[in-house]
Amino acid sequence: MTARVLVVDDILANVKLLEARLQAEYFEVLSAHSGQEALDVLARERVDVVLLDVMMPGMDGFEACRRIKSNIATHHIPVVMVTALDQPADKVQGLESGADDFLTKPVDDIALITRVKNLARLKMLNDEMIMRASTGKEMGIPDDGAFAKALSGRSGRVLVVDDHPRSAARLLEVLSKTNDAFAERDPQAALIKLAESNFDLLVVSLSLQGADGLRLCSQVRSLERTRHLPIIILVEPGDEARLLRGLDMGVNDYLMRPIDRHELLARVKTQIKRKRHSDFLRHRLAETVEMSITDALTGLQNRRYMESHLKTLVADSLRTGRHLSMLVADIDHFKAVNDTYGHDVGDMVLKEFSVRLKRNTRGIDLACRLGGEEFVIIMPDTDIARAYQVGERLRATVASENFTIPGGKTIRVTASVGISTLEVAEDTPETVFKRADLALYAAKKRGRNRVSADAA
Ligand code: GH3
Ligand code: MG
Ligand code: MG
Repeated sequence: MTARVLVVDDILANVKLLEARLQAEYFEVLSAHSGQEALDVLARERVDVVLLDVMMPGMDGFEACRRIKSNIATHHIPVVMVTALDQPADKVQGLESGADDFLTKPVDDIALITRVKNLARLKMLNDEMIMRASTGKEMGIPDDGAFAKALSGRSGRVLVVDDHPRSAARLLEVLSKTNDAFAERDPQAALIKLAESNFDLLVVSLSLQGADGLRLCSQVRSLERTRHLPIIILVEPGDEARLLRGLDMGVNDYLMRPIDRHELLARVKTQIKRKRHSDFLRHRLAETVEMSITDALTGLQNRRYMESHLKTLVADSLRTGRHLSMLVADIDHFKAVNDTYGHDVGDMVLKEFSVRLKRNTRGIDLACRLGGEEFVIIMPDTDIARAYQVGERLRATVASENFTIPGGKTIRVTASVGISTLEVAEDTPETVFKRADLALYAAKKRGRNRVSADAA
């Protein structure tokens, strides 16, 4: 991951130290020595995570953080406050100024890398999400609110696995302030719960009596249903070995006991945001796949899908000897609709035409828009005589009732239709299609608003 980290500290030695550790993990490091300098760097450079020292002369870390978070250009950049160990009040103030997480001096290596990795990953997901949403807008994907929901999703369903009653109760109490939190003592029961319902985060104690929390983590990672679930582990001081094993197996973050409530809430919030962002991107991916086979204007299947489906159907019909017919319809003098009423009205006519076309098809028929004002219906199990009836019915449905356009006006629309059927063993998708197209051409020549069957 080539994330860019901005290290801000007034003491050069501190900057150098953090810089060296981050570079050793292949992060790219920028530095600033005052709050103002940090804001200047952020104004000119792309930065994925800011490590911000609290104590600086002039503008302190809190003020710098507030400014970063109140500027629309930088508010989404994660900020980690670097505080002194003996100043717990700093965390409260840090959170109030908008910080995303904390590190205490002297900065521990594992903590540093884990914090930065998590927040850099969140930032990248966030950037990607914003780009996809804007591409989606440009491509006319309707906004179903998923984007806003993903960005605002701060609270989630959290499952805590801890068999120490007091510790579990305390965790629940803190988590319930901003989330729906549930506790489970037994890791196997927890696994079943996770597989059965939707959780956004798992918090696992590594101090379970007679059970290994890491084992649960590894099971969660290997189950299809829970593979992407964020995990935070709770670790005893001195148990770095298991902490590292956990991080290795894909645990996302950790807290050291005794657990600081602010840290807990900050990390939970980051993981839930991250989950929401990746859910959004997966959802968009599914939508994009859907989009690649449907026509955006009419919602019918597109040409690409039709061509691949026709191939399958032709092969199937040749194998089984069942009928297969197709119909090509083209709106008559459509150019005149555009020229007279404008392109937007033309689009409305195309939509209404699609509705009528769709109404004329059975569930097993494939209705698609080839492009422009040309449409196709592929009809399995249908002979040419039956296809002719479908074509005639479509023609009549279009011609018999005027299309309503804005301003209360109506216009008369007609279409010509060509039909063909799979006939001989030598037929291919192309020959069947070609014959329907020739029939359409014949219908146009015979005066439009009519149906022609393939002359063969
Ligand atoms: P014919 O009866 O011979 O089919 O005449 P026509 O005017 O329908 O055919 P032609 O192919 O000359 O014109 C088709 C027009 O369809 C031209 C093009 O601008 C318009 N068109 C193509 N796609 C769209 C679209 O998505 N929206 C709108 N509004 N018009 C489109
Ligand atoms: Mg036309
Ligand atoms: Mg045309």
